[in-house]
Amino acid sequence: MLGQMMDQPLLISSIARHADRRFADQEIVSFTVDNPRHRYTYRDAFSRARKLANALARHGVEQGDRIGTMAWNDYRHFELYFGVSGSGLVCHTINPRLFEDQLVFIINDASDKFLFLDPMFVGTVEALLPRLDNAPQLVILTDDGHMPETSFDAVSYEAFIADESDDYDWPLFDENTASALCYTSGTTGNPKGVLYSHRSTVLHSFGVSLPDVFDLSAKEVAMPIVPMFHVNAWGIPYATALTGTKLVFPGPKMGDPAVLQELIEEEGVTNSAGVPTVWQGLIAYLDATGKRIDSVKTLVGGGSAVPYSLMVAYEERYGVDLVHAWGMSETSPLGSMFHTSPALEKLPEEERQKARASQGAPPFGVELRIVDDEGGVLPQDGEAVGALQIRGPWIASSYFSADGPGTVGADAFTADGWFDTGDVASISPLGYMHIEDRAKDLIKSGGEWISSIELENTAVGHPTVKQAAVIAMPDEKWQERPLLVVVPEEGATIDAAELLGFFNGQVAKWWIPDAVAVTDAIPLTATGKISKLDLRKQLDAGKLTVQSPATA
Ligand code: ADP
Repeated sequence: MLGQMMDQPLLISSIARHADRRFADQEIVSFTVDNPRHRYTYRDAFSRARKLANALARHGVEQGDRIGTMAWNDYRHFELYFGVSGSGLVCHTINPRLFEDQLVFIINDASDKFLFLDPMFVGTVEALLPRLDNAPQLVILTDDGHMPETSFDAVSYEAFIADESDDYDWPLFDENTASALCYTSGTTGNPKGVLYSHRSTVLHSFGVSLPDVFDLSAKEVAMPIVPMFHVNAWGIPYATALTGTKLVFPGPKMGDPAVLQELIEEEGVTNSAGVPTVWQGLIAYLDATGKRIDSVKTLVGGGSAVPYSLMVAYEERYGVDLVHAWGMSETSPLGSMFHTSPALEKLPEEERQKARASQGAPPFGVELRIVDDEGGVLPQDGEAVGALQIRGPWIASSYFSADGPGTVGADAFTADGWFDTGDVASISPLGYMHIEDRAKDLIKSGGEWISSIELENTAVGHPTVKQAAVIAMPDEKWQERPLLVVVPEEGATIDAAELLGFFNGQVAKWWIPDAVAVTDAIPLTATGKISKLDLRKQLDAGKLTVQSPATA
């Protein structure tokens, strides 16, 4: 027997209509290239999103067409999120930090009809255009007064929407319709497209807003420091509209702690999300200047492992909770987040610390499991370690490709309906998941594995270390042994023997790296993570000076 309730589709436009009715006067503040404090309201944003929908319709786009964006976090990008998806088109966010070959591949694979770009990406796009199969129409996210010189035909965004009416009825369609497209950076091979749906996005927005997740409401002020061009800024722009949370966008200043601190203080930011390097940069700035971030309640860290020492530093020095979250493009990205529970509070201090340092537990909507090499499900006892798999209504079921679903990366999807994340993890009896490593970054020493993440987190707890990365070095006896690559703190000198001695008692003795290489900069991927692939290449090419204290 079926229930007898209305079958209202879960659409991104339903979030827009709700925010328009309930939270019209709530503010959206953006730092843009032309204006360090652009401010308007949700009412203004959705009025302009409807004008944009009318403008796109006038240009003959059809449902399902891909509309590319190459832009920082600001109000115009927010309008694109809603105007494009709400009208049944697919908002294809493009990461401008990708290599040119990857950009060419994804724009061709997606066949974008339009490309909306920030003025600062004109040069990037100029280089791409000759290599595109079908040139998209180009709209630059500025007004006529600030149009940059271009070698291609383009209009300004403001001119594009200027003469349109904001009278637009958001269309109704199946909630499983595609809403947005984002390619993973693809360290090897071509990037893979993740095609979100309206249903997955609305459900994910509920998940993100929950008290034990980002805790969003009209009383809060959120600033996503995760880019809108990668995994929809962790879904925050949709979730803030759903809950009426005031939004603060740092525009192109996501890596500038002075601007971030100023925005936090002046706009009263209570919740923010970023990768660990953002939080490392911000705390270094606060320590150096004596400035504060007293309005903040929660900072969420994810995208790569947040060192426990950093969580403690924020709590002790600034009274701020830096909370660990885990996810990936394929998971929208919310996969897990740390929050305590009465059951955890009853456990000994050591267990509580371990849980807090872990990547947290899945919220409703996500299930996690770990499996062994044969696909056998392992126990959630905090000890067993295996391949991490995930399923739920906001987890990808296949990759998007111009050649059709199932033609790319099909082996990541199991026959019984789970997605294999490529991460290796353990799960505690209370459900706290601990990422040991990416499967491809684990160091295999004498048939046993060593977690590079654990070693990196330990190394950054040392006062002379600013950044650390651990990669495998070939070893005759053990096949692989860990090499610790470090960037020293300003003015500090690294003493390799002393640094390795620091690991004593913090990790198993045989995990302690055999050697240290000091470098000026650790290479990063397009999503700002340590590029172990590039580090391995540097090692193979003899570009790292390796010191082994035993022989030094
Ligand atoms: P990419 O960076 O490869 O483009 P994603 O942004 O989807 O792709 O990254 C997902 C990966 O980032 C995860 O599979 C995991 O390895 C890593 N990751 C994300 N959050 C965390 C975390 N909190 N701790 C450790 N690793 C993390």
